[in-house]
Parts: sequence; structure tokens; C-alpha cells
Amino acid sequence: MTDNPVTPPAATGHGPLIDVDGLRKSFGDNEVLKGIDFAVPAGSVTVIIGPSGSGKTTILRSLNALDLPDAGIIRVADETIDFAGSYGKADIARYRRQSAMVFQGHNLFPHKTVLENVIEGPVIVQKRPRAEAVADAERLLTEVGLIEKRDEYPDQLSGGQQQRVGIVRALALQPKVMLFDEPTSALDPELVGDVLTVLKDLAAQGWTMVVVTHEIRFARQVADQVIFADHGVVLERGTARQVIDDPTHERTRQFLRRLL
Ligand code: ADP
Repeated sequence: MTDNPVTPPAATGHGPLIDVDGLRKSFGDNEVLKGIDFAVPAGSVTVIIGPSGSGKTTILRSLNALDLPDAGIIRVADETIDFAGSYGKADIARYRRQSAMVFQGHNLFPHKTVLENVIEGPVIVQKRPRAEAVADAERLLTEVGLIEKRDEYPDQLSGGQQQRVGIVRALALQPKVMLFDEPTSALDPELVGDVLTVLKDLAAQGWTMVVVTHEIRFARQVADQVIFADHGVVLERGTARQVIDDPTHERTRQFLRRLL
């Protein structure tokens, strides 16, 4: 492990850190993902955009095994699962450990302090020594400008501060990949900037990130790859310049017109 937990474990920028091949998922009769393929190079930022209901969150949740796909082979860092094949709980646990997810809401434990929220995963789930987890948590909280809030409770923090704690909580798990599900959509507009700044800092540090967001300006500034998901397929994929500024499909143009 690195001395500084903010430093991403794979900052080399070589080869894909995530490989998604033939991802399929239905909820009952509703076929939500119809064969999704993409790769995420190490140290790069992928932004997934698309209309509501197109399957973006389900893609992200599949990368963290919060949703279990019906089919598809997914590799996240060191762990590969063939979801149409046989796999067990231990396989899922190892696969899940490769990434950490930041949710739309802040999802903090209301009766725990900021520090207790951050060290919960490392100490309880990962069984790391408490002193080490506290030291890492303090370093991460300093990094996002929240060290003075370490002993406060979530309801004493603004939405933006809570979301930054949510990001720190994910980082504290020392994942190889950070997943963000609309990290700013539950925030008041004036709080969005602070959270996006943290995401930009992480990107600049070389974190491998997959971000579902409607923040097109953020995608333009930070994304190495933009994926436009529509009705359970990847309709377009490329650089922000290609997908946002010069889309191939009329549906992408329609979607972007509504956002811009
Ligand atoms: P997006 O993130 O693009 O808005 P989602 O991945 O959240 O799309 O959802 C895609 C579709 O899957 C939607 O029709 C949604 O209602 C459905 N869906 C998502 N999760 C579940 C679930 N746990 N049970 C049933 N349907 C679900």
C-alpha cells in the first residue's frame, strides 16, 4: 500500500483497468442492459451520460456487484467474473473490493461522527488496525478540507460537505477504481462546484474513475472517455470532443440539446 492513501494505486495510465464484455441485465421482463462493452484505461476518467432509465446506474452497480448481471465478463483490476458462469460469494467479495462507490445521496451513518463514518469500512470490514485507519482518514479529510469537521455529525454538515465525506469514505477503502453515481445531483447548485473540484483533484492525481453525471461541463473538462448510454446499449463512445461536440447519432444530439 502507498504511504499516502490519496495516491491512487494505479497511476501509470497503461492498459485497461476495467474491461466490460457483453454485459446484460434484466429486471423481470425489463431488459435494462442489452450487451454493453467498454474498457477503462488505468488512470483515466470515463463519464457515462444518457437519458434517465437508459441503464447508467445499473452499469455502475454491476462494476461493484451491487447489481449482479445476468451475463457478461467483467474484469475490474485483478478480478474477473463471468456472470453467466459459476461464481461464489468469495469471488464477489474479491471483485467488489477492487472498486468503491460514491452514491447520489450522502448515505452517511447519522449517529456516527465524520471520522467514525470514514473508518467504519477499513476497521469493521477490512479489519485494518484502528490507529492506521484513523491516520489515513485524517489525511484524507485534510485533503478535501474537512479535517476540522472530524468529530461532527453528518447533520451538522452541508450537503456538499457530506458528499465530500462520502468520497473520503470510499477512498478510505483503498480501492483501485472509484465509481460515482450522480455525485452532485442531490446538491443545491451552489454546492456542486466543491464536489466537482474534489473529483477533478482525484482525476489529476491519476485515479481511475467512472462517473455517471449530467454535468456536461465537467465531462468536457475531465473525461478521457465519454459513453452515451441509451436504451441499454452504448450508442456512442469516444473523447468528450467526439461524443459531446460532434456526436454521430441524432439521439445523442437530442439528449445534449436538452442539457446544454
Ligand atoms: P439510469 O441510471 O440511466 O437512469 P438505471 O440503471 O437506474 O438507469 O435504470 C434502468 C432501468 O432499470 C429503469 O427502467 C429502472 O426502473 C430499472 N431498474 C433499475 N434497478 C431496478 C431494480 N432494482 N428493480 C427493478 N427495476 C430496476
